[in-house]
Amino acid sequence: MKLFKAKKGIHIPGKKDGTAKLSSIEFLSPEYVYIPLSVKGTDFDVLVKPGDIVKLGQKIAQRSKGKGLPLVKHASISGEVVNIKERKMHSSGLPYVCIQIKNDFKDTLVEVTPVSNLDKVENSQLLEIIKEAGIVGLGGAGFPTFLKYGNVKDIDTVILNGAECEPYLTSDYRIMLEQTDRVIDGLVILMKLANAKKGIIAIKKGKKEVYKQLLDGASKFNNISVVEIPDEFPAGWERQVVYRTLKRSYENFPFECGVILNNVSTSVAVSKAVRDGLPLVERFVTVSGEGIIRPQNYRVRIGTLSTDLIKLSEGLADDMGELRIVTGGPMMGTSLKTEEFVVTSELSGILALPGEHKYETPHNKPVGDVILDVLHFSEHDDRFFMRDEQPCVRCGNCVKYCPAGIQPTLIRSASIAKDEIMLDKLDVSKCISCGTCSYVCPSHIQVSEAVKKGKAYHAAKNRNKK
Ligand code: SF4
Ligand code: SF4
Repeated sequence: MKLFKAKKGIHIPGKKDGTAKLSSIEFLSPEYVYIPLSVKGTDFDVLVKPGDIVKLGQKIAQRSKGKGLPLVKHASISGEVVNIKERKMHSSGLPYVCIQIKNDFKDTLVEVTPVSNLDKVENSQLLEIIKEAGIVGLGGAGFPTFLKYGNVKDIDTVILNGAECEPYLTSDYRIMLEQTDRVIDGLVILMKLANAKKGIIAIKKGKKEVYKQLLDGASKFNNISVVEIPDEFPAGWERQVVYRTLKRSYENFPFECGVILNNVSTSVAVSKAVRDGLPLVERFVTVSGEGIIRPQNYRVRIGTLSTDLIKLSEGLADDMGELRIVTGGPMMGTSLKTEEFVVTSELSGILALPGEHKYETPHNKPVGDVILDVLHFSEHDDRFFMRDEQPCVRCGNCVKYCPAGIQPTLIRSASIAKDEIMLDKLDVSKCISCGTCSYVCPSHIQVSEAVKKGKAYHAAKNRNKK
């Protein structure tokens, strides 16, 4: 069995100061929300029609097993369903069928059933609550949480992942500071669900304020600890988190070594679903980047328009030329051609980043003049900005620093050539889309984009064979 060996990551600039110190702002009253279902839409049973009046938290669509991952969608405001149609407004850039709701600004809540005594509730009931609340991984994966806890056995530890290693993003950081008790309460519920004896909250080293606060909150429990992990990228990768906290490795899934992981924001959503009976209707999102006038974290309803939040942040800078709008972080996120999309449950950040040619900094360096053996990039490093690709100089950096231990540059060539056999030989499916290969490339080649495409091509070919 080939197990993961911890590899040294890279240190990349955090770019978090702009938002980490600011309390989040609530924006819970958008005029409209657009609840995205899926690309096809037909895989969902839609439970409302245009003209229907819905309450906050009302179930409006569901996808059952057999049609894809089972999911439940809820109205994130109260008001009237305006229409249900395809819109190119998903944070992935793909067209999704969305349910549009017009706000009546009353926040009339659907009938809820909070759980007051956790000890009196069976795990099967808890699982059903989490499923019906539509809780999915809020760290970006969007995987239904109840599925992780469905058939658990021999789990001894639940880890909450608060590493948030993507630059600029601080939504998890703020939620850990502002809703510490919720984070811990969600962990207690998840530990009960998994019959786990131990809970760990993993955060990056150097986050003194949040470390102290979590430590205070966890001190009421003798089986919950807070563990600091090195400030490397990708510190938040599940394999890294499990290895750094427990020195354990696994082949495919963390449960193979007795562990389940969830994001800290997911833990808050679990607490709200169980204690308040509230489905997943809101999340924290970071709006940041050099192209945003006033970077800020917001607590918002799912389906809120990105343009509403950019406006609240005083808009986009107009002196930096063309801006690159990114959903998620700059390493693993998606660049969009539009600034109008919706806040989905998996969207942790909205970034506006300038292009190199329009925004010169004293730190711009010519091709080949970057000493990459120094793993620490400076806070002023501008590698997240758009640049023209130059020819590959065969420096080997992408291979050296790929945390998955694969060969990005060869995979890129195979991806461009659509060489399915080579993609298979090169283990393209092991790529975790971390973006490191692009970041460390002195020629600014978007290696990870090509690898991502190769991975999708390879997966599609394999699906067709079945
Ligand atoms: S090939 Fe994939 S896993 Fe490796 S560095 Fe590139 S994006 Fe990350
Ligand atoms: S890091 Fe860039 S220049 Fe270096 S080998 Fe990889 S693709 Fe080529």
